[in-house]
Amino acid sequence: MEFNVNAWLRPNVLRMKPYSSARDEFSGSEGIFLDANENSLGSVGIVENYNRYPDPLQKNLKLKLAQIENIPPNWIFLGNGSDEAIDLVIRAFCEPAQDQVIILPPTYGMYQVSAHLNNVGVLEVPLLPNFQLDVDRIIASFNPQTKILFICSPNNPSGNLMHQGDLEKVIQNFPGIVLLDEAYVDFAPGFSMISALKEYPNLIIIKTFSKAWGLAGLRLGMAFAQPEIIRVFNKIKPPYNINLLTQEVALKALEKPEIKAQMLEEIFSERLFLEEQLYKQKEVLKIFPSNTNFLLVQFREADRMYDYLVSKQIIVRNRSKVLYCEGCLRITVGTHSENLALLEAIEAYT
Ligand SMILES: *Cc1c(COP(=O)(O)O)cnc(C)c1O
Repeated sequence: MEFNVNAWLRPNVLRMKPYSSARDEFSGSEGIFLDANENSLGSVGIVENYNRYPDPLQKNLKLKLAQIENIPPNWIFLGNGSDEAIDLVIRAFCEPAQDQVIILPPTYGMYQVSAHLNNVGVLEVPLLPNFQLDVDRIIASFNPQTKILFICSPNNPSGNLMHQGDLEKVIQNFPGIVLLDEAYVDFAPGFSMISALKEYPNLIIIKTFSKAWGLAGLRLGMAFAQPEIIRVFNKIKPPYNINLLTQEVALKALEKPEIKAQMLEEIFSERLFLEEQLYKQKEVLKIFPSNTNFLLVQFREADRMYDYLVSKQIIVRNRSKVLYCEGCLRITVGTHSENLALLEAIEAYT
């Protein structure tokens, strides 16, 4: 597949010279560092030293991640949450007040928020009622102002994977950038499209440490793409976008993939438990199949159920006004005791 990244970039992004940080110009670890106006004495109030700026390209972390994802390190970008990657892709490729992106409702809200923030148009091409891709309509919706197509698989809030053949057809036939959001793909082992990146120079896959890795508080997201696109991210990102604490903690997590695997097993068995028990509740009309760590559940009286659960200090996500999700609440799989508390509350609902 042919794709010329430079032809799709905003001209100002193509032309601009990136900020050159002190640590870009000299990246050795030994030396007397008097170049960045840090506090050479150390950090206030703690024993550990965080007085030095972090590695702008997070080399150690990317080396480890490269092994795990089986992809070269220069095919990886790390962002302050995957939300940063979403924002940077829009800023790199969409001219404000002129260009547009395509989103496929019902889907994750940040694509639209980031587009609006950047004064970029949003064209909605709804998923089919079974939450699958409307392939022909997506491809037919492309026009010269369309720069990015956002696809989420497994999708939030519906929880399903998109059909593999549909994904491939869309990626092959969509002329612009396709951003495939795999935030939940750890819950659907074997379905990541990372290994197909080498065939698709227009594809960007984002993943996150916020879900399966259990590190939402760190704010760390990943984007995977061919090096031509990763170079664009590196050119326009804030120089030190991933702080040192985050880099250190994420590296520790990546060294324990077996703990992640154990947690996934537990989440899968709790999801099954929750699904089986919810189906016994008279208030529950439908539970959508899930390839994620949440269930989309249709209730007889969703809004009232939502308020009732809040009054019991159980917070779920009300999606009842979202396309194809009438009457639905989105419920994250909790610990066993949290799930029991939820079920007990629903049982007591009148
Ligand atoms: C949770 C989520 C993300 C993760 O965002 P972060 O900024 O990495 O926390 C991305 N996409 C979808 C669809 C999500 O549900």
